[in-house]
Amino acid sequence: MPRTQTPLGLFGTEDLIGEDDRAIRDTVRAFTADRIRPHLADWFDEASIPARELARELGDLGVLGMHLQGYGCAGTTATAYGLACMELEAADSGLRSLVSVQGSLAMFAIWRWGSEEQKQEWLPRMAAGEAIGCFGLTEPDFGSNPGDMRTYARRDGEDWVLNGTKMWITNGSVADVAVVWAQTDDKIRGFVVPTDTPGFSAPEITKKLSLRASVTSELVLDDVRLPASAMLPEARGLSGPLSCLNEARYGIVFGALGAARDCLETAIAYTQERDIFGKPLASYQATQLKLADMSLELGKGMLLALHLGSLKDAGTLTSEQVSTGKLNNVREAIAIARECRTLLGANGISLEYPVLRHANNLESVLTYEGTSEVHQLVIGQTLTGQSAFR
Ligand code: FAD
Repeated sequence: MPRTQTPLGLFGTEDLIGEDDRAIRDTVRAFTADRIRPHLADWFDEASIPARELARELGDLGVLGMHLQGYGCAGTTATAYGLACMELEAADSGLRSLVSVQGSLAMFAIWRWGSEEQKQEWLPRMAAGEAIGCFGLTEPDFGSNPGDMRTYARRDGEDWVLNGTKMWITNGSVADVAVVWAQTDDKIRGFVVPTDTPGFSAPEITKKLSLRASVTSELVLDDVRLPASAMLPEARGLSGPLSCLNEARYGIVFGALGAARDCLETAIAYTQERDIFGKPLASYQATQLKLADMSLELGKGMLLALHLGSLKDAGTLTSEQVSTGKLNNVREAIAIARECRTLLGANGISLEYPVLRHANNLESVLTYEGTSEVHQLVIGQTLTGQSAFR
């Protein structure tokens, strides 16, 4: 038998990863192997995930807000954070979503735009997984165009009173704190809303065919009264929430490749075991052409992700570069997942194997944190100087 290599082994990407980052990656991989993978088919099937229990374990693992400095956060490199996202999403995009929303959306919003008091109150508990956060930007009628949102915060004396509805909010029903974005008389502002505030409710969205091992909710704000100190003082306008989305998108650049890698490794193993017309499926040229092409896209995506990680660690990564990585890697990941599904035949549609679960999950990943089309428009604008959004 000639020497074999994994798809990423072929590209030698391991040599581009520092020892410390690799150690963190391996710890997360071991956690998902022991604690997560044995349950995933059931969680997906039953559309339930023990989010509260897992949050504490993920807090102990040190991955919640891991790339942030201070306030109980691990303060790792951005590359280590990306690699952790990759391992989490190799298990399931829902698990990575839990961690992304907690660390890159809810915690980052408070860390980047919050008052010292807000940071002290929430970040250490969120890093430990004792408090879960969600991030409410999207509304039923406003997704790609959040600037037109209807949720409104009006002043009443010193207080703020929030009214409106948010939609498709990850972690919403299990959150202790919601970062909610709302129109005010002075631009869009962010609010730190404890979810036990009267007038706040978060009914769970059911009947999802994607990200079933993830909590997704509506947020209803019905005269939610908050003190003046609930507003994020430093964020004014849409740049506040967009900065958070940029953080989460960066994690997805790596994360989506985790799902793709899991599909490809599954398909390679499967085609070696499966005999068709008396010989292994892996020995047919048609199979090998598919596997080779998928490995190319996985490897190229990984090189891009690691490059963007280096830029982020150097502090020079731009939002257009993050759009490029998110667009490419999610698009290629879903193509890989679907192609792997064909190689598994009927078994490909079963939860006994991860491929259709990943493919279905990636439908959400293609849509959230900016749809593929929105990132194409970002790149188009960067290339031409012309905005085609409106
Ligand atoms: P729309 O904006 O209505 O888009 C519909 C189609 O129109 C898309 O194909 C889009 O690309 C296209 N389109 C949009 N603008 C243009 C244009 N200018 N030119 C051409 N085509 C265009 N949101 C949160 O705030 N917090 C969360 O935690 C969160 N979690 C989510 C979890 C899941 C599972 C999902 C599915 C979504 C989540 N979202 C969350 C919402 C997500 O961010 C939005 O779904 C996304 O921004 C797209 O908005 P939309 O669904 O309203 O689609």
